[in-house]
Amino acid sequence: MKEGVRIAVVGAGVVGLSTAVCVAEALPLCSVTLLADRFSPDTTSDGAAGILYAAKFPDIPMQRQKRWFKDSFDHLLAIAQSQHAPEAGVIMSSGCQILREITEEKEPFWADSVIGFRFMTDKELQRFPDHKCGQVFTTIKCECSSYLPWLKNRFVQLGGQVVQRKINSLQELSGDSYDIIVNCAGLGSKTLVDDGQVYPVRGQVLKVEAPWLKHFVRDGDGKTYIYPGVHSVTIGGTRQEHDWRLQVDKGDTSSILERCSRLEPSLVHAKVLGEWVGLRPSRRNPRVEKELLRMQGRTVPVVHNYGHGGWGVTLAWGTALDALGLVRQCLHEMPLRAKL
Ligand code: FAD
Repeated sequence: MKEGVRIAVVGAGVVGLSTAVCVAEALPLCSVTLLADRFSPDTTSDGAAGILYAAKFPDIPMQRQKRWFKDSFDHLLAIAQSQHAPEAGVIMSSGCQILREITEEKEPFWADSVIGFRFMTDKELQRFPDHKCGQVFTTIKCECSSYLPWLKNRFVQLGGQVVQRKINSLQELSGDSYDIIVNCAGLGSKTLVDDGQVYPVRGQVLKVEAPWLKHFVRDGDGKTYIYPGVHSVTIGGTRQEHDWRLQVDKGDTSSILERCSRLEPSLVHAKVLGEWVGLRPSRRNPRVEKELLRMQGRTVPVVHNYGHGGWGVTLAWGTALDALGLVRQCLHEMPLRAKL
């Protein structure tokens, strides 16, 4: 029924690739093209620590946020428990989040989605004298430097087309006669769709060699964390709002090493393998919605899926499923001419 419909997905970070795979898998009669100016290993997603964890967005109904988290978690857990785990860079990761204050909320909204959530015992907390409580759980670590090429391969196997190209305006894509445009341009949406609500939150991390570390530790303020991965341990970080600098800041490096060694003293023996900076595509709430844009004399449906801030790896599959639902709605509402 939808044969011949041409869908463009802009963006090849974790959000764009997840969305492209969801759409190509669910709508095999449509032609899906992924367009981006940067691919792995050069996207923001590539350097993300990739731990599945999320804070609340203020204006998105809790049910929807829970669904985003759970859908992503279950999708990645299935990969982590399959033969694809090492190639996809998706592993299970156990550890703790420690908090300086006792929170009013009993359990975070994602407690039911992760595995084995519980509060830390006093004995476990003795190791962190500056912290008053903590949570232990098993989550997922999704390393995008492996996961993105794996997803891209899956997309191509589904018949998807991949084009490296900078899009200066969505009008260009209407000119290329795409019937539906899906915008997953992350921070690029600031200029691409002129969204003044999108802003960068700069993050710097280090990769260190410390194979003896097996459990993650995350300070609840989100600025200090130690995440053991497949080949190295990611330690961080920073959260600098509206800071566009992509250069490594040596002051940040020292501060990260100092803060992380305070939580895990053995890190003084770790060799630094690399330093990396990325800009989180932040927004008060992620934008996952459709709009109709008038372009070159025709109305083109655009599905937006961007603005995931510090939780893009965590929420990518969940929001991709929502974006797929919106693409289906667009197909349903499309005049018959475009479907042929
Ligand atoms: P991106 O990865 O930035 O991809 C955007 C894509 O759009 C790129 O392909 C780009 O080329 C393309 N694009 C943009 N504009 C255009 C244009 N005009 N024309 C063509 N293409 C365009 N999240 C977690 O869930 N867990 C974590 O542990 C975690 N840790 C992080 C640590 C750090 C230090 C940082 C910086 C981020 C971290 N994040 C984490 C956040 C996560 O990295 C982001 O939320 C996620 O990468 C956003 O993905 P995205 O696909 O929206 O954007």
